[in-house]
Amino acid sequence: MEQDFIKALPVLRTLIEAGHQAYFVGGAVRDSYMKRTIGDVDIATDAAPDQVERLFKRTVDVGKEHGTIIVLWEDDTYEVTTFRTESAYEDYRRPSEVHFITSLEEDLKRRDLTINAMAMTADGQVLDYFGGKKDIDQQLIRTVGKPEDRFQEDALRMLRAVRFMSQLGFTLSKETEEAIIKEKTLLSHVSVERKTIEFEKLLLGKASREAIQMLVHTGLYKELPGFYHKRENLLTASEFPFSFLTSREELWAALLIDLQIELKDAMLFLKAWKLPGKVMKEAAHIADTFGQSLDAMSMYKAGEKALLSAVKISMLRQTKQLNGERLKEVREAYQSLPIKSLKDLAITGRDLLALRNQPAGKWVSEELQRIEQAVVTGKLSNQKKHIEEWLKTCDQP
Ligand code: ATP
Ligand code: MG
Repeated sequence: MEQDFIKALPVLRTLIEAGHQAYFVGGAVRDSYMKRTIGDVDIATDAAPDQVERLFKRTVDVGKEHGTIIVLWEDDTYEVTTFRTESAYEDYRRPSEVHFITSLEEDLKRRDLTINAMAMTADGQVLDYFGGKKDIDQQLIRTVGKPEDRFQEDALRMLRAVRFMSQLGFTLSKETEEAIIKEKTLLSHVSVERKTIEFEKLLLGKASREAIQMLVHTGLYKELPGFYHKRENLLTASEFPFSFLTSREELWAALLIDLQIELKDAMLFLKAWKLPGKVMKEAAHIADTFGQSLDAMSMYKAGEKALLSAVKISMLRQTKQLNGERLKEVREAYQSLPIKSLKDLAITGRDLLALRNQPAGKWVSEELQRIEQAVVTGKLSNQKKHIEEWLKTCDQP
């Protein structure tokens, strides 16, 4: 048993000693069987949420009505979810009602994919009612039960299937693929926020190429914000090695570039994905920087972070790999700029007012900008004395 499970064992034991059933479930069991790095260790139990809360000193209620309590144990947190079935699916979204039950097998049956529907006991035995192990061995993504039914219950599962394809490098089972083609338009009923989470994970997966091509092949892409008319661009984008990118800002900037979304439309596109304002602004800024030459002024305007992101994206588009040497050169070129921002300038607006002996006005910022440009491009050294002399040779504002 992996260290991640061993650390979580006391939580399982506490539940079991109180007379309940408790198992590790979901992604961690899948990753352990695949010998992949384990993400979050999730626990399922027949104890009701109130009972879970009473058994542990430190808990957080994150959705009791859905059965989930977070248990804090030493330095870790675990989601402990009561066995449940889901009923009354409305509008192809998540269920409006859940029922707590006592059967592990029933709980596993409501899960999306066979590879995600295995459980592990406290002594490391894997319980696999739906052929998850076999599907992992054959590298197949397959739904638990009939795919049409499962996609009609919750249409997000179609996008999740393609997301796992990307992360694990698996293929879709034939029935799963056909059901996605058939049911794809149901994805329109799913909230953007849920789509965004899955889509970002899909892009970062090691098989993003095949996954993006599958989105196109099945037609699922038409239900993603801003993609409807972007079929050809998506196919181009599928060649981009997104997994080299390290931030959401870079990810969305690369997408803006590959989809050839013009700067004026960028914010609207990013808004449609409901990204945080900060991510949107930075992504658009990186995409804007991308198209520019690397002269002193454009490096200065970009700032170090966006500059490096833009260079990274450009490199990946050209060679599909990162050149650390080249990135270092760009960083050094940026570092050697005489100033990094207006506040590094040896002269201030107040100095200008005194020097010119004129009332404040728009001219102050205009003059500062002229000085800024001259200093950044190396025409003028950033010393107060020099700047003052330079100003004397310029026209009075
Ligand atoms: P990751 O490592 O990316 O977190 P994961 O398998 O843990 O992968 P989650 O999205 O965290 O995936 O979901 C946890 C588990 O909950 C899944 O393994 C699956 O069993 C179940 N699950 C999640 N979303 C759905 C869904 N829409 N329908 C059915 N089951 C789901
Ligand atoms: Mg998870």
